[in-house]
Amino acid sequence: MTDIESSNDADEAAETAEGAIRFAYALKPPEGSVVSSELFGRIQAWRQILIRLALVGQSPGRYQGLGFGNLSARDPEQPEEFVITASQTGGIDRLAEEDLTRVIGCNLDRFWVDAQGEQPPSSETLTHAMIYAADPRIEWVFHCHSPELWRSAGALALPCTAKDVDYGSPEMVLAVAELLGSHHSRPLVFASLGHRDGIFSCGGTARDTGGLLVSYLARALEIDVGDLAVAEPTEEP
Ligand SMILES: [Zn+2]
Repeated sequence: MTDIESSNDADEAAETAEGAIRFAYALKPPEGSVVSSELFGRIQAWRQILIRLALVGQSPGRYQGLGFGNLSARDPEQPEEFVITASQTGGIDRLAEEDLTRVIGCNLDRFWVDAQGEQPPSSETLTHAMIYAADPRIEWVFHCHSPELWRSAGALALPCTAKDVDYGSPEMVLAVAELLGSHHSRPLVFASLGHRDGIFSCGGTARDTGGLLVSYLARALEIDVGDLAVAEPTEEP
């Protein structure tokens, strides 16, 4: 089996602001299933919920029509590895197994990902990898896009990575490590102010990770009455 190394040119042509993959990766064909049926079912279920809430998806009116949002779960059998939705799967209603990619190794200094699967891993794989590396208690990461939550990050006192920290950058990897080091509660929801509408939730179980995200969304909807009514979030809520 040969590694397919990518310089990501093809992806960059198709994916701009929201989805561009900014790391190099080697993608091997999977040896059997990339995910157990139990874990796959749980990812599918929570992803369906996030789609119904428009936190994950694809819409002509949002982000130049590009897919947005991604989910990952640590492999309980091999905790150094995780599975993540493949790049630009936001518009797929129900995932097939080949829409998940297994991340078997990451080099956060070299911006390198070793993966197994049929499709490139999500453009936000390195942020997910940093979250797992920062805390072994974290087993799930949901990345979604919510204008209401993002606008209300300050009012909700959500931890935030700074406005000048662009997603997928080395600065984002460092910022996430710092944020998780200084905010110890789990599950944890945080906003990424340099990535429009970008919200992350991470925790030990899917239920905790999704439950906290949804309860923050409810609070955001309570206070968010439109673009003009709520001030832009600040970096230090
Ligand atoms: Zn995003």
